[in-house]
Amino acid sequence: MTYGNRARTTPRRIRIRRNRVAGLLVVVAAIAAAALGYQLPSSSSSRAASPIDVLRGERRGLPSEHRGPLGEADGAVPDGATVFDDEIPGVANLDPDLLGALRQAATDAADDGIELLIDSGWRSPEYQNQLLREAVSEYGSEDEAARWVATAETSAHVWGDAVDIGPAAATAWLSEHGAEYGLCQTYGNEPWHYELRPEAIAHGCPPAYADPTHDPRMQAGQLRG
Ligand SMILES: [Zn+2]
Repeated sequence: MTYGNRARTTPRRIRIRRNRVAGLLVVVAAIAAAALGYQLPSSSSSRAASPIDVLRGERRGLPSEHRGPLGEADGAVPDGATVFDDEIPGVANLDPDLLGALRQAATDAADDGIELLIDSGWRSPEYQNQLLREAVSEYGSEDEAARWVATAETSAHVWGDAVDIGPAAATAWLSEHGAEYGLCQTYGNEPWHYELRPEAIAHGCPPAYADPTHDPRMQAGQLRG
């Protein structure tokens, strides 16, 4: 596959907005899930692998006809991808400021002997919804899935505003140094999920939400834009 000619000038947000109507259909479910999420106890447990890693690993063992049509063009990221792999849409379609901060951080982390990898970055709305369906299957309920995977309409990944970082040594490095680059962990239950908070460079990162259901952006239809 060749992504080299993929138009870098394609307006990412315009392309995404075309899918907004479909995305709106899930907003009601998202709001309901967020409301129910308030009743869930905050989790202090940490998992060895992100749900995306788990889901990806499970898919790897499935026959190809069950893998679905969604691949790298929709934001699936191959193992070992770095923030410099801009032939991969999941990396290339990230917000330029976020990508710039990640590249600075990755360069400095490398000086410390730490390799910073991208487990997931930008995702198409279709890919996000596929992940959500798989999470519902994995976790057994929409309420529990909402603690780990957002809808296409609410996920910062779909806007290109979030990355899932690996491996553990890299997230440990970022938890210590990320604020210097404006890179902050968003959710307490997802040590791998980082977003850009430019004000963190001067003031440090804000406290993380316990999990995505506590994120005000997930509630009351307050959409990212
Ligand atoms: Zn994430």
